Amino acid sequence: MRSSAPLEAVQGEGRSLGRRCGFLRLGGCNLSCRWCDTPYTWDWQGISDSGISYDPKVELHRRSVSSVAEELTGLGVDLVVISGGEPLSQQARLLPLIDTLLEAGTEVEFETNGTRVPDSRLVRPGVRFNVSPKLSHSGDPAERRIVPQALSRFAATPGTTFKFVCRTTADLDEVSALASDFGIDSVWIMPEGQNPDDIDKHMQELVSSVIDRGWNVTTRLHTLVWGHKRGV
Ligand code: SF4
Repeated sequence: MRSSAPLEAVQGEGRSLGRRCGFLRLGGCNLSCRWCDTPYTWDWQGISDSGISYDPKVELHRRSVSSVAEELTGLGVDLVVISGGEPLSQQARLLPLIDTLLEAGTEVEFETNGTRVPDSRLVRPGVRFNVSPKLSHSGDPAERRIVPQALSRFAATPGTTFKFVCRTTADLDEVSALASDFGIDSVWIMPEGQNPDDIDKHMQELVSSVIDRGWNVTTRLHTLVWGHKRGV
């Protein structure tokens, strides 16, 4: 698999926010969101807002599943978060890793952009999907960021939550339309922001409307605490 080194961390977003975990970041993404906070996993041409082009030879390393499994189980955590990039682009390669983690009693959460139909062998007890479909402000064309077959499958998968990056209440209307179209009933709203000031600004703008709509909110703990620092 193509990934950075596994590390010990806390889940920074969503329903397990603050939970100690092992964190595995896989390389490559099929989208190119302009505000992406991990462009070093896929942006080899400098097309995101950062304007920086990263070198895949520096950022990514081919690792055997067995060595990654050994490193993650060695952390002694009961939760592993697998993120990216888009981790489900490598989902077939991940099956032996998931087997090993579950056998060790470790839960797994995938952070996915919701454009890949999950392999049925991944849909099993102990594995959860945190699906983050991208809205129009991401800059990705609708036909790339909204894949009906995948969203419908995730919406029908028990334990799945949907997390939407939002800036304005107009974004919430877009979320409402997607929730209605695909039968999404577990909605978390996360304010967009690459720094604490922007996260706070967007949270203040959104939180009342989110509560009024019967949804949940999450912050971005890692950005509030560590900013842009990588590897924490
Ligand atoms: S889907 Fe996620 S990793 Fe991919 S470009 Fe968008 S924000 Fe970045």
